[in-house]
Amino acid sequence: MFNPKNEKTKVSKVENNYGKEIILISDFQEFDFKKIPLYDALILDWADAEGAKSLLKKIRSSNIESIYLIPLFILSLNKLEDMETEELSDGIISMVQPESLNRTIERIQEKKSGLKPYTANRNTNKQLVKVLRFMFTRNRPLRPIKDRTSRIGYKYPILSSGFEEEAPKLEIDTLQEAMEKDFFSATFQDRMHLCSKCHSGFLNYKELDPKSGSANLITENLIHHFVCAYVGPQGDFMQGESMVCPKCNKTLRHIGVDYDKPSVMYKCLDNDNYFQEPDLKAECMHCGHSNDLESLQEYDIFTFVLTDEGKDEAIQPKGTEKAKDIVYSGFITYSTFSTFLRFEIERVRQNKVSSNIGLIRIGISTTMEMALGNRYEKLIEEISAFVSGNTDSSTVLSRSVNSFFILFPDAPANKAKAKLDFLSSSIKQLLKNNLKDYDIEVIANVKPIQQGSDQQSILNDLRASILKK
Ligand SMILES: [Zn+2]
Ligand SMILES: [Zn+2]
Repeated sequence: MFNPKNEKTKVSKVENNYGKEIILISDFQEFDFKKIPLYDALILDWADAEGAKSLLKKIRSSNIESIYLIPLFILSLNKLEDMETEELSDGIISMVQPESLNRTIERIQEKKSGLKPYTANRNTNKQLVKVLRFMFTRNRPLRPIKDRTSRIGYKYPILSSGFEEEAPKLEIDTLQEAMEKDFFSATFQDRMHLCSKCHSGFLNYKELDPKSGSANLITENLIHHFVCAYVGPQGDFMQGESMVCPKCNKTLRHIGVDYDKPSVMYKCLDNDNYFQEPDLKAECMHCGHSNDLESLQEYDIFTFVLTDEGKDEAIQPKGTEKAKDIVYSGFITYSTFSTFLRFEIERVRQNKVSSNIGLIRIGISTTMEMALGNRYEKLIEEISAFVSGNTDSSTVLSRSVNSFFILFPDAPANKAKAKLDFLSSSIKQLLKNNLKDYDIEVIANVKPIQQGSDQQSILNDLRASILKK
């Protein structure tokens, strides 16, 4: 009997004894992508293969580390013949066994906690760092898969996923850079020939009439009549079933005795040209360029394994700046924020709108922060990305050390409060997930912007209200 209560919930928590937030997702419409950093692992239900695959790709193509590095399993009752899914996931499972999932999750999390924060500068290839970090945390090789939709004909799923659009040149350069820097040891898999203009591997090899350039050719045997030394295409000799020499009019009898077929001739059906050596070209099915065979780009496909240099680079990308100098994307400086606030107060006064300001502070002590070092630096980076990812564009964000200032223009007080509660409880969850042995307080408060007050006293009041709480 149909009983809606027994229906599996669309996004459900997997019970386990390891204190892990493992989420099973069956409804991909309902799932809130931005909450991923709150979880330890995801299981995607392949019953909706299309939805699962698209979420899998979306996650791995993210450039936010706490999203693209999340341990992720595919739940499928049937065997999957899908190399790309194998490469992008952390395992295809036919049943949910928390114990074995937990082993994989902890292995990945342990590796991940060793990664050091970095700031990309002009010379940092972020896609390469992403690939290195994915390989490092999974301890697995970067494998090419045949893919007719990829320009080159092969792709490395985690690398290709990082580029918004198909970017064969960037992919080739990225792998080249990694090899030059000795990050990979490479095992040969295949050799491709690519269009010299656009790097496409989808080529049509053609024999062409050297005069007209036409591909409309047939081949004919060339006949050499020994008796009179005439040489010509077989067509010239044919008279009904028998062959008669057009020069001396004798009937040809036995191949090898009175004539032979020394080679073939090409005939162009468009203009009746005869010739022996057609032009060979490789026409690109992507850009249309007609490549000389010698000009095709030879491109070797390898399976790559991280070297020790590659592992070091994954942990701490070289030539990058210290994390302290980061201006987080989506955040403005405290002084700019204060200017924003001044204008907002004026707007509230003139338009009588409701506007609110919130503050979230992570109550971590300096000694604890120092003890955690990189781990905390990385975590606060993730938290920042989470906060900016979970607020809409009208919200103004600033971060100063361990405090987040959030301006909610036009939001009614209850909405601003609900948002602030969501953010602060999520931050609590992130801290708990990542620093299991520490108990770190998260304090938050939100206040309406009163007309007539100045920005400095609003900010001071807000800070003070949090200290008293
Ligand atoms: Zn003859
Ligand atoms: Zn091309």
